[in-house]
Amino acid sequence: MGTPPDPHTGPAMPFARPAFAALLLSLALASALAPARAAAQEPTSWFFPDGTAFDPAIPSPEEFLGYPIGDFHTRHDRIVSYMETLAELSDRASVQTIGYTHEHRPMPVLTITSPANLNRLEEIRVAHMSATESPPNEELPVIVHLGWGVHGNETSSSEAAMLTAYWLVAGTGADVARYLDEGVYHVEPVLNPDGRDRHTNWANMHRSEPFVTDPLDREHNEVWPGGRTNHYWFDLNRDWLPLVHPESQARIDFHQSWRPHVVTDYHEMGTSSTYFFEPSKPVGSWNPLLPERLYTDITMRFADDWAASLDSLGSLYFTKEVYDNTYPGYGSTYPNFLGGLGLVFEQASSRGHWQDSDHHGVLTFAFAIRNHVRTALATVRVAVEERAVLQEYQREFFRTGIETAEAGDVGGWVFGDAHDASLNRAFLDLLLRHRIRTYELSSEVEAGDHTFAPGTAWVVPAAQPAYRLARSIFERTEEFADSVFYDASTWTVSLAYGIPDGELGPGSLPLGDEVTAVPEAGGLPVDRSSVAYLLDWRDSGAPTALRALQAAGVRAEMSTRGWTSPTTRGEVGFGAGSISVPVGIQTISADSLHRAVQAAAGAGQVPIHAATSGYSVAGADLGSRSFGPVRAPRILMPIGDGVSSYEAGQLWHLMDQRIGQPVTKVDVADLGRVDWSDYDVLVLVSGGLFSGARLERLQAWVREGGTLIAVRTAAAWAAANGFTPNVAAPGSGGGGGNAEEEGPTRLPWADAGDLQGAQAIGGSIWAADLDLTHPLAFGYTQETIPVWRDHSMFFEPSANPYGTVAQLTDDPHLSGYISEANEARLAGSPSVLADRLGGGSVVLLVDNPNFRGFWRGTTRLFLNAVWFGDRY
Ligand SMILES: [Zn+2]
Repeated sequence: MGTPPDPHTGPAMPFARPAFAALLLSLALASALAPARAAAQEPTSWFFPDGTAFDPAIPSPEEFLGYPIGDFHTRHDRIVSYMETLAELSDRASVQTIGYTHEHRPMPVLTITSPANLNRLEEIRVAHMSATESPPNEELPVIVHLGWGVHGNETSSSEAAMLTAYWLVAGTGADVARYLDEGVYHVEPVLNPDGRDRHTNWANMHRSEPFVTDPLDREHNEVWPGGRTNHYWFDLNRDWLPLVHPESQARIDFHQSWRPHVVTDYHEMGTSSTYFFEPSKPVGSWNPLLPERLYTDITMRFADDWAASLDSLGSLYFTKEVYDNTYPGYGSTYPNFLGGLGLVFEQASSRGHWQDSDHHGVLTFAFAIRNHVRTALATVRVAVEERAVLQEYQREFFRTGIETAEAGDVGGWVFGDAHDASLNRAFLDLLLRHRIRTYELSSEVEAGDHTFAPGTAWVVPAAQPAYRLARSIFERTEEFADSVFYDASTWTVSLAYGIPDGELGPGSLPLGDEVTAVPEAGGLPVDRSSVAYLLDWRDSGAPTALRALQAAGVRAEMSTRGWTSPTTRGEVGFGAGSISVPVGIQTISADSLHRAVQAAAGAGQVPIHAATSGYSVAGADLGSRSFGPVRAPRILMPIGDGVSSYEAGQLWHLMDQRIGQPVTKVDVADLGRVDWSDYDVLVLVSGGLFSGARLERLQAWVREGGTLIAVRTAAAWAAANGFTPNVAAPGSGGGGGNAEEEGPTRLPWADAGDLQGAQAIGGSIWAADLDLTHPLAFGYTQETIPVWRDHSMFFEPSANPYGTVAQLTDDPHLSGYISEANEARLAGSPSVLADRLGGGSVVLLVDNPNFRGFWRGTTRLFLNAVWFGDRY
């Protein structure tokens, strides 16, 4: 629970492998007679169609690596070296590093084309980019981006990338010469290097000779968290829109610079499946913002060739059954928003070297790799043959986008938070990364129940080349062709950020200057004070600054009431939850304090004000009893087997990358070694549960003053296990949520999957009413905030009248799909509950506060629980 279903476990379908029986027989004989060696040993030629010839001056992957492809899993650094070697030896290729991962692995892109094209590559790029929005230029090559292995444990992809690059760089046939003349190929061999190496080392370190095909062997069963995700356990195949990670930021910059006509996204799925290529399922998998022609015409031009390439091998496949293509955060969908064709390919995984499949014998790594190679070759061939169509389609895409925008009733979107400059900067940064044209607001406007003022608000016009992407960032989705979702049914980014926004009508827009860079933070540097330094909690950069202050040994106080202070820059208002750093109570010198405050303001990119008096203009004085100490939290989060790596990773990333706050991650197997007196805050995400003596010890720790923050199903667990005297465990939503059912109903068996899918809450956005006076809500200025809900846990309000901090409103729907039965149950359903147990506190965050790392709007609830959880 709590994590997206493994999307690559498709239905089991048979596949055939010519030559397999012979191969297995020879292996059996080899094992019997000479047990030392039993590897795959497929020659390079086996991966390519008969008669494919290569330049002997260029090493094949096997010659370079020293083993046949399929015999080992190739480490990322070796793949990088092979790309560099190809670029070094060939005048058809050049290599660049487009970015670095969290673990500082390079992200290479090998660009392959004819030597003549390569010599004028930048000229081609500039001409291509302008041709996407202007008259045709048929002389230009087709731009193809061959991307592989966004899921690190779907490893046949990147092995196939090396072979495909080899074919383009070293192939000597007339066909390859034509492809190079008429195309530019960007080979991005590993989209998730950190995850790739986690799995690659796993597969190699457990590799046996002879191969052990038993699915129970450790080689085929990675330990938590596995190699699918990146360093922070995020699925990078959801990050093309949120751009939370450096991998995606670098990748989108490259795609925005090239707007490829065709983009491949190579994956693996369940071992007993076969192969999948598009078209994907026709109902509900088309994004309604994209031209229908993409699905009915452009994709279909490729399908026959993929089919033929696999038919020639006797490899079975399926199409049209699963995999939606609607969310712009997928690697196979984002390219569609740049006027290209994004394509997902799925190969049954050997997950390890050789593995028994359910009903069709052994699936080998080499077999998986070869299928991917063949569809890649077919993709290149069709892209060249359809070059003029792809170019014309891309021009039409941008032209019809602007025409649709001009004909629509939305002229643009206005957004901005008057109190949260950090949030504004983060949102502007995202828009600029997506090349969405954005302007300063020139005059005050009312929209979407908000008033927006110049200086703290901006405008995105609808009529612009990035119209479709802009619309999917702001638009609420309410109509659905289907009720079954492979993933979330909505992704409205402005709601996820919790940034006030509204639609503007057609006609002239209040546009000021275009924004070309994220504005600098105001109010830096910090003036000197002899009284106190003040930090407004309403700016979402404040927790980062507070953490920096505490790391420097500075004592900070928080006020439960707002106030207005005289400062060196005039009178400044501060919201409840804001921070005062009194100069007189510190243990460090006034000079050191000023330096620490200066550094903290820089770390948080947030102004810190210098008070000129403790006597406030309004509200609490700086010595008021509403001020109390803020603890420097010592945080523990159990991780490991059974724990949701996604939820844990999202909070780890938040604390690491945005706040700079250490979190001790303890494997669940080591919890017996914890000295609980060393920690103030325990973060439990879904699956991180306690029982027996450890449960009793944990309850004692809370009673002694600890703060338990329980997220999603951990919240239900805490309520069911005696942590919340005032909050009952949620009634069973049954997961399927069929509470209103009136008795046995007879339905067609074939519809069962769809009907169950329709009853699940797969992820949608809801309005919650917030008690702005509660410490867990400090920093918020809007009483209604969007929350992300993807579960069927319906809590009752707390028996303590002050304990239900946030609950869904009476009419809470904001965006996304929900069945009618579930919608009725959502009204009034609590989202945040706060309780006390003895001297400690328990915070139930029923809805994920940091979904996919881009739900910035609700992270504040979690951060308040960390710093202020002992203040209610
Ligand atoms: Zn995948």
